[in-house]
Amino acid sequence: MPQIYDLHSHSTASDGALSPTDLVLRAHEYGVTSLALTDHDTVAGLAEAHTTATATGINLIPGIELSTSWQNKCLHIVGLGIDPEYPLLREATRNLQVMRMERAEKIADKLEKKRIPGALEAVKAAAGDGMITRSHFADFLLSQFHVSTQQEAFDRYLGAGKAAFVATTWSDLELAVSWITGSGGVAVLAHPLRYKLTASWMKRLLPAFKEAGGQGIEIITGRYNADEIKTVTGYATRFELAGSVGSDFHNPANPWIELGRLAPLPQSITPVWKLLGNFNQDYL
Ligand code: AMP
Ligand code: MN
Ligand code: MN
Ligand code: MN
Repeated sequence: MPQIYDLHSHSTASDGALSPTDLVLRAHEYGVTSLALTDHDTVAGLAEAHTTATATGINLIPGIELSTSWQNKCLHIVGLGIDPEYPLLREATRNLQVMRMERAEKIADKLEKKRIPGALEAVKAAAGDGMITRSHFADFLLSQFHVSTQQEAFDRYLGAGKAAFVATTWSDLELAVSWITGSGGVAVLAHPLRYKLTASWMKRLLPAFKEAGGQGIEIITGRYNADEIKTVTGYATRFELAGSVGSDFHNPANPWIELGRLAPLPQSITPVWKLLGNFNQDYL
């Protein structure tokens, strides 16, 4: 049976549209055999996803996508095969939830100054027990007709330097990687071209990431074209990183990014799943 990996996805535990159960069912429907649920800064969806995965016969890889800071840049690190009970990771997610709530209050204040009231109540209601993200604010702005697309919400209000942007110092990259590796997981640099780093910054970042214990880089994501895949394959080869494959699926309403609809990893690259430990070895 062909194995289809999708090692980056979101549920309602952060800014995804589907509950962990519905996400796992959709992944199964689209032929995914190994799915990593990697919500922003939380492991809260993993237990439910695991239950559904077991019932469905899909291999669930417990994951997280940690927001980190490195040299004043916000970088996302995906942890795969983590232990969600690992105390340092649990403590980190609790702290990140507080940070995200405080940031949300500041974003809402800034929107209020732009004569857009009610954002905090709306994003809290939408996020429920989950992590509040800028996507929740984008949805609110869209629902109130302040913008006509999510992208416009980021371009006008939420993106770096825009009217309602709140600069945040996340966990240090090195520390975040240590929570992942300390819990038995593999740390992967998510969507490496999204940060718009120059080649010389990448040449500083990747050794620092490796030095911290990072082992993988996302080569195939829902958004990369052939040239971009080639660029990241070059980085993986040069810096001896394993390659990961993940859609970064958030919402079925976005037709470009579907679960499991991903190009294969280049043959020359070590797949990151070869580094993952002891989940359901039948699938690995
Ligand atoms: P946060 O982690 O709260 O800063 O929110 C970041 C999330 O917002 C990302 O994970 C994406 O889901 C979403 N996002 C960031 N930039 C954009 C954008 N330009 N358009 C649409 N969604 C975006
Ligand atoms: Mn997101
Ligand atoms: Mn991300
Ligand atoms: Mn993501």
